[in-house]
Amino acid sequence: MQKYYILPKEIPNIIMEKRLCPKCNAEKTVKSGIVGERQRYKCKKCGYYFTVNKIGKQVDAYYVVKALQLYIEGLSYREIERILGVSHVSVMNWVKKYHIKVPNNYEYHPTYKVLKHEELMEFMQDESNTKGAGILITELGDKYMIIKWERFKK
Ligand SMILES: [Zn+2]
Repeated sequence: MQKYYILPKEIPNIIMEKRLCPKCNAEKTVKSGIVGERQRYKCKKCGYYFTVNKIGKQVDAYYVVKALQLYIEGLSYREIERILGVSHVSVMNWVKKYHIKVPNNYEYHPTYKVLKHEELMEFMQDESNTKGAGILITELGDKYMIIKWERFKK
């Protein structure tokens, strides 16, 4: 069975984009207090301070929906944390809040991959990627996430 993994490097591009240092583009930034209504960050590489808008309610709802979607599809809290960049504790809280229940005994575990549009087109063109498998494509930031099942291949 083919396995898909998200390269750790891709994650900041999806969710943490707003935290990249605007000066040197470094991904390693740390929270450094709130200035006005905005979260301030400090770049660990060049020491530059910058602020970003705090995530609004609308954006929150976006991640809540995505997180719950992934949870229902059988991904673990930790996996969701890794993919969306939201803490697994938040995801747990949302699952509780919205009374999401998932059957315990999945016979299968979905695999997933985050792709750019061109990569998605390439993926879909290869019939062996889709034959005998269930595929769900969902938006993720400016990319697409493919969730794939191969339940019936057993
Ligand atoms: Zn920097």
